[in-house]
Amino acid sequence: MKTDEILSRMRELASRPPRPVREEAMSRVLSEIRRKTPASCRLFEEARAIMPGGVQHMLSPTTPYPIFMDHGRGCHLTDVDGNRYVDYLNGGGPVLLGHNPDFLRRKMAALIEDKGWFHGLPDEYEILACRKIIEHMPSVEKVRFLQSGTEACMAAIRLARACTGKKKIIKFAGTYHGWSDQLVFDLWLPGSGRLLASGIPESATENTLVAPLNDLDGLARVIEQGERDGGVAAVILEPLGPESGTLPIDAGFVRYLRELTRTKGILLIFDEVVTGFRVGLGGAQALFGVDPDLTVLGKIIGGCFPSCGAVGGKAVYMEALRSGVPSGTGPSCFVAGTFGANLLTCAAVYFTLSEIETTDAIGRAAATTEDLVNKLNRLFEREGSSFFAYRYGSILHIETSALFAIDARTEQGILEVLERKQVAGGHQTFLLNEGLMTLMGKGFVTSAHTAEAVEQTVTAYARLLEAI
Ligand code: PLP
Repeated sequence: MKTDEILSRMRELASRPPRPVREEAMSRVLSEIRRKTPASCRLFEEARAIMPGGVQHMLSPTTPYPIFMDHGRGCHLTDVDGNRYVDYLNGGGPVLLGHNPDFLRRKMAALIEDKGWFHGLPDEYEILACRKIIEHMPSVEKVRFLQSGTEACMAAIRLARACTGKKKIIKFAGTYHGWSDQLVFDLWLPGSGRLLASGIPESATENTLVAPLNDLDGLARVIEQGERDGGVAAVILEPLGPESGTLPIDAGFVRYLRELTRTKGILLIFDEVVTGFRVGLGGAQALFGVDPDLTVLGKIIGGCFPSCGAVGGKAVYMEALRSGVPSGTGPSCFVAGTFGANLLTCAAVYFTLSEIETTDAIGRAAATTEDLVNKLNRLFEREGSSFFAYRYGSILHIETSALFAIDARTEQGILEVLERKQVAGGHQTFLLNEGLMTLMGKGFVTSAHTAEAVEQTVTAYARLLEAI
């Protein structure tokens, strides 16, 4: 689906009242979930006493309580009561090859048997891992591993400031780039500014500017404002748009951004934590034919072995991230981390990217997603629903509530967002009872998703339409 069509269907959906699951259907669903998940209920009671809110995972469904997992295999998760779910959450995106793939389990078990799991000093797997990334991402000449996507975004920004001597950074409305102080600003809901910045001093976000998406004039204005006040070191963006294209970005806008930043000496940072090695071996940058100065990676590259994040980019900038005491000429930029570039992660990166490359996992996951999107859209059309599905590679979007399309700059807007979030949460709970683990509106398909899983998903959405 093209960007214009997605945006106009999103506006259309946002202009209609949200469609909650009917009350009697929801109370049936809740009692069925409770009946099927007594062990989760018991574990949640234990967790509540010793963990804040009783849950450690931001993306976990929480109604009626978090479901505790026993294991994952292929496209399925099995909970502690033995219920099986087709997983579309997939940890928020790192799972591309399915859960617990045989080849990786065997390789990693052999590695641990052979070498152990940590020594904290250089290892040849670091070279193998960096090479695999560089081989596929033409803009990346050097790579530095860190411990998470959050850290890698922090490092990329610090590096951009160190290399340009400028201080402002520009992000786009609604984008999430991890939870560092300077980036917890205008998260998820465009216009929400410091809504989630409790505990973060204003001084930490005062050098973060927010630009509107797909708006050339608006972008130029924000850049001018930053250039007048300390200069703009970098523009950081998720290349498909906030939340992996939940608010889609126009490819022409990204190309314009590249030209504009180049002429103004501003570094362009692509946050490919989700898109890297999911939408193509070369990430979204290869799809758009755009050459960022720095790229942030995480999630998929480490095959779900913690802890994994990386910054890559042009050698002329990346050299500033050299470890140890600054030496040589040119800028230097301090980053560190006990478990950064650890043996397990680097080996997992090398094994995982080699497997993705040789098995066309990206293409296979995308083909399954295409099949699912087509079947869902046929269902929605047949039922006269304004719900719609679209995809970027194997990133799946199923819009039922248009939560992110609401302008959150007014109190009324925030109230509407909260109402729609509750409705979307109701859809999620309904689908959970149908055996689907989803994330409100967005999902990730793996190369292990089967035709049977696709059919189960379409049937679950058909039942959802009956229940609203
Ligand atoms: N950037 C994007 C686009 C993300 O989606 C995320 C996490 O969801 C991050 C950065 C942060 O990565 P991590 O959770 O590994 O810190």
